[in-house]
Formats: sequence, structure tokens, C-alpha cells
Amino acid sequence: MININEIEKAAEKIRKAKYGIAFTGAGISVESGIPPFRGENGLWNKYDPIFLEIEYFRKKPLQSWKKIKEIFYDNLIKAEPNKAHIVLAKMCKRELIESVITQNIDNLHQKAGSKYVYELHGTYKQLVCTECSSEYDISFADLNFLPPTCYICKGILKPDMVFFNEPIPLFAKNRSFAEAKKCDLFLIIGTDAEVFPANSIPIAAKETGATIIEINIKESHFTNTITDIFLKGKATEVMTKLGELLYLD
Ligand code: NAD
Repeated sequence: MININEIEKAAEKIRKAKYGIAFTGAGISVESGIPPFRGENGLWNKYDPIFLEIEYFRKKPLQSWKKIKEIFYDNLIKAEPNKAHIVLAKMCKRELIESVITQNIDNLHQKAGSKYVYELHGTYKQLVCTECSSEYDISFADLNFLPPTCYICKGILKPDMVFFNEPIPLFAKNRSFAEAKKCDLFLIIGTDAEVFPANSIPIAAKETGATIIEINIKESHFTNTITDIFLKGKATEVMTKLGELLYLD
């Protein structure tokens, strides 16, 4: 059950903010049919996460690719933005939110129309050659033949998403911290952000003095530590109500 009073309070903060930022995780895309990693219906209840470890990928690219294709590519290519992505894109268009920092690799913020998106964990949409670093849009790859290989050097292509034990892309990381240190409003949607350094970005915003608004179906470790307004509920329900209160339609 969503709390209208709290959503009204949040809408007022968003309206008055000078520089608002959004920070999203797997939870915003659950209602687009993409399961999160953790939790009741999380991927790690069904699969061994080893296939996303970079050392495993290097040693056994075919085995890793088979799982990656089944879990990500067969679904993500068909996934569409839901109401939460769409309302957020409208907030961006109206400059209520200046940029979106996401841990997601699903490209749904861009598909919904958000312009400035910093992808902390990369994207499924691009493949990169493990030998010569050539980059390819996914539309150029034929995933019926695994592992996909580079047209130039025949090296194995890897999804341009951050595997376990790989560093975060420097540009996205630096931009995200710069945005967090600049903002006066920080909207967290659907994330436990248990991994470093993603989990320290909301803290950087809090230390700057930003108001932290959090949307989640359950409390996260931010809720009782840095969150000022907690909006309990599904991302689509809460964002739809926020969109109405901000006259975004
Ligand atoms: P997570 O799986 O650890 O947690 C998901 C969070 O979303 C939880 O806090 C959960 O309570 C919340 N949630 C679930 N359903 C929700 C809903 N309908 N509305 C609002 N909140 C909801 O995910 P995470 O914290 O984002 O981080 C783990 C990693 O998962 C990230 O690195 C990310 O790359 C990766 N991931 C991304 C995708 C994607 O691109 N869509 C999917 C799975 C995992």
C-alpha cells in the first residue's frame, strides 16, 4: 500500500530541487520482466553466479556465453521500459532530474528517453573484443554461434558489462561521483546497492547535503541510515503517482 502523504512530500522536494539525480538498480526493471540478482525471485536462486566471473569467462568463454545468452540476451532484447522508466524519462525532459546513474545493463532508461545515463556496470547492448578491443553493437552479432568472435581479429567477444572482479568503467564512475557531489536531491529506485563502489554514491550525495528519496518494495540498508523519505511500493506504482503529482503527462 503506497503512502500518499509521503509521495506528496517527495513530489514537493523534487519540484523545489535545484539539481536532482536518480540512482537505479535491478528493482526498477523487475516490472519489465527482468529478474534481479538477489531476493525471492532473484537469479542467484536459480543459477550459480560463476558464469559472470571474469576469470571463468576467460577460461571457459563458451560455457559462460551459453548462460549469459539464456539469462540476459534472450530476454533483454525483447524487454520494454515500464511506467517507472517512462516517468523518470519525463522528469529528465522537464529537468527535474538532470541525470540517471544506473547499475542496470538493460538499456531501458535510454529506451524510455532519458538522455544522460551513466552505466556503472556497463551495457548488454555492446560487445567488446577481448583481443583487439573493437566494439560492436549487439545487432552485429549472431548469437546462434557461440562464443561470438571479432570480425577483425577473430578474438572472442565479451558483453560490455562489468563481470565480477572487473573494474567499473572510469568515465561512468567519475561522472556518477561528480553528479552525487553536485546534487541537492537524490532519488534511489529499486536497489540494495550492495556492491562497492556503487553503494558509496548515495552516501556521497548525503554528505553533500542532498535530500535522499528512496523507492523500494522493502527496506534496504539505505532506508534507516541515509534515506529522508522512504516510499514503500513497486517502482511503477510510486513513480506513476509521482508523475501525476508533478503533472508530467
Ligand atoms: P539486487 O538484485 O541486489 O536488488 C534489487 C532491489 O530491487 C531490491 O532492493 C528489491 O527489494 C528491489 N525491488 C524488487 N522489485 C522491485 C519493484 N518492483 N519496485 C521497486 N523495487 C524493487 O539489484 P541491485 O541492488 O540493483 O544490484 C545488483 C546488480 O544487479 C547490479 O550490479 C546490476 O548490474 C545487476 N542486475 C541488473 C539487471 C538489469 O539490468 N535489469 C538485472 C539483474 C541484475
